[in-house]
Amino acid sequence: MPELPEVETVRRGLEAGVVGRTAVSVSATGARTVRRQGATELQLRLTGRRFEAARRRGKYLALLLDEGGALVVHLRMSGQLLLVADASLPLVPHTHVVIGLDDGSELRFVDPRTFGEVYVAGDLGPGGLPVELERLGVDPVADGLPPARLGRALSGRRLPVKAALMDQRLVAGIGNIYADEICFRARVRPDRRCDTLTPPAVRRLAEATVEVLEEAVAARGSTLADARYRDLMGEAGEFQHSHAVYGRADQPCPRCGRPVTRTKVGGRSSFYCGRCQR
Ligand SMILES: [Zn+2]
Repeated sequence: MPELPEVETVRRGLEAGVVGRTAVSVSATGARTVRRQGATELQLRLTGRRFEAARRRGKYLALLLDEGGALVVHLRMSGQLLLVADASLPLVPHTHVVIGLDDGSELRFVDPRTFGEVYVAGDLGPGGLPVELERLGVDPVADGLPPARLGRALSGRRLPVKAALMDQRLVAGIGNIYADEICFRARVRPDRRCDTLTPPAVRRLAEATVEVLEEAVAARGSTLADARYRDLMGEAGEFQHSHAVYGRADQPCPRCGRPVTRTKVGGRSSFYCGRCQR
């Protein structure tokens, strides 16, 4: 599932290849993908609009439109956005939305599992983003994450640290992979309860969150064995080679050499070092 670094990589691709272009045609064949407003409404609201900026909050993308509003894309489990220079190239299976651009290229939304969503949001909030995106928690890459702010978000909560990091209302953009990597970097067990964290542990978590996510953005995200995540041009990311614990059960911890432990936290597979993390 794409998380903040993967979505930010797609956003950078949109900034380079789609901002400044105008949507000249819109075709939506996936009813579930456009469930919020339907194919006809999407077509009406998007055709003829120019993309002014590519923004992101957490795992949501927002392409701001010239006459107000924004095209919102949420990749969810398996969504991909692809920019195809040659519109005569055949559509891959599970292509649900095709937006023709004024330079002859096409922006295509592909999503085998159809949890993803594409829609035009009419109203922008005071931060210049669709209001439902502005309700999300702090974005550690776009906004930074001061330890005091993370401390307030986690204060008094009885849930595991990993579950809190993945709660999009508290911190936006973190999913299963990066939550494990952040906990490892911060030397905090993913199943530790938030209300047991000391101030130094909160500070390590805040610093690790920004560091891990920024390093992953620099490596253009993580493409796992399922090869599902691709950037806008169809290229894989590189950060999977830098994972310290995620997906590395029984392999040596990069810090101490003890085998990495696999467990479940909140129903999700989780990986940590039982010696380095407390
Ligand atoms: Zn270790």
